[in-house]
This record gives sequence, C-alpha cells and structure tokens, in this order.
Amino acid sequence: MQKPYTIILAPNPSIMTGPGTNTIVLGGGVEGATVIDPALDDVAYLDAILREGAERGDIRRIFITHGHPDHIGGIAALRQRLGTHLVHVFAFSRQGVPGIDEEMADGMLCPAGDDTLRAIHTPGHRFDHLCFYLEKAHILFAGDMISGITTNVIAPPDGDMLDYLNSLKRLQDLDIAEIVPGHGPPIRDPQAKIAEYIAHRQLREQQVMEALEELPRGVKIPAIVKFVYIDVDPKLHAIAAWSVEAHLIKLEREGLAERLGDDGWALVEPTA
Ligand SMILES: [Zn+2]
Repeated sequence: MQKPYTIILAPNPSIMTGPGTNTIVLGGGVEGATVIDPALDDVAYLDAILREGAERGDIRRIFITHGHPDHIGGIAALRQRLGTHLVHVFAFSRQGVPGIDEEMADGMLCPAGDDTLRAIHTPGHRFDHLCFYLEKAHILFAGDMISGITTNVIAPPDGDMLDYLNSLKRLQDLDIAEIVPGHGPPIRDPQAKIAEYIAHRQLREQQVMEALEELPRGVKIPAIVKFVYIDVDPKLHAIAAWSVEAHLIKLEREGLAERLGDDGWALVEPTA
C-alpha cells in the first residue's frame, strides 16, 4: 500500500530552515496528487517531486502553507514543468502569496487519495499560515507552526504571538497521530509537543513580565533579552529579540505593557 505522503527534502539548508524545507507529495488516484510547499527552483529537486507525483497519478494542485520565500520559491518552476493550465495553486490569500489561482478559506476540503485534506487557518508565524490535516490518517502538515528542529521563530511584523498561541490551542482540539513539520523530522508525540510549545511561550512571557518589573521603566529590548535569555548563547540573542518583541506586542494588545517612545517598554501601571 502506498504511504499517505512522501517528503522531498528541498536543498535549501540554513540557520532558519534547518536541513531544508520539507516538500510534501500526497494523495493520488483519479483526483490526482497534491504538492505542499515547493521551496525552490532546483532541477534535481523538481525531478524528485515530479517522479513522486507521476507514481501517484499526476500532480494537479499546489498548496502553500504560507508566503515565506522558503515555502513558495519553487511554485513558478514546478508550474512550468507541469504545464501551467493543468495545475492550480492554492494559498490562504493573494495578499500572502501573489499570483495564486485560488484562495483557500479555513475548513476547505480537498480529496487526497482515499482520504480528505482539510485546510486550517493558523495565523501567528505569519497572518496567512495554513496547516493541512489529513482527516482519516490524522496527520497534520504543520508548515512553520511547529518545527522538528528547534522552536520556530515568531518575528514581528510577520509574527503575532497572540494569534500564534491561539492557533496552537486550536491544534489541541485535533486528534493528531503525527505532525509533519515544514522543517525537520516528523513528530510522533504531537499533543505533548504542542503542550510543550504553549508552556515554553507562556514561560517566556512570564519572564518578559518579570524583566519589566525588575528593570527600569522604558527598558529597551536588548536589555530584556539579556535578562530573559541568560541561559542562551549570545549568538542567538538577535533571534531572541524577535521573540521578546512579539511577546511585548502581545502584552501591549492585552493592556499589560506599554511603549514609552524611543523603543522603551514598561508595565502598564494600574490606575488608582
Ligand atoms: Zn516561515
């Protein structure tokens, strides 16, 4: 029996993408196959996608988890190899991924062999992020919501921590047997991983609140990073700064923190 999906690893390793982007080929039969996240224009890599697609009965659709370059860089080249009019490209919105054929709303269903693939809008890493859930196999293709390598990056202005935590909580309601992330190996203890992600973000938020309590009013992000990330290699402090900023913006939206101008931050003083 054919596996429900195949991972084709894109040759784009980096500090942000780990070993590279996981491109997924799935489905097949009369309805044709689907490709998730063609990452870049590379002949051998596109050959591998096409070979897998041909074994499944031809690629008819390209689904995009979100509009970051390492998830969309191969759309045009793959489309050209397949024949432009034969394949449809879907993403959450044209604002997120210009030039797509169809926008894909939350809950949209699509045939995937004997199974059904459901789009789930999960903003946070980016406003247009979709996860794809294979309903019978209970497999979640998680894009950059969950990472198989490290914690994933929530970097403003693209990233929104409040949306991200709400999206993680939404995934807690799904019966998931396996998570296939956009980067790194599949995750076989999905709900433990999701709970760990939520706990990790909540801990960091608490630490950012503590930093605002302890440090002078109007403290700037680098000083908060030093306070919170004592245990982290200073080389990673630039990445940590994004996360701190994302937490501060969340706290600001919740009325707990405020900007004092000149990039300084403080807790909102309770009014008497
Ligand atoms: Zn991304």
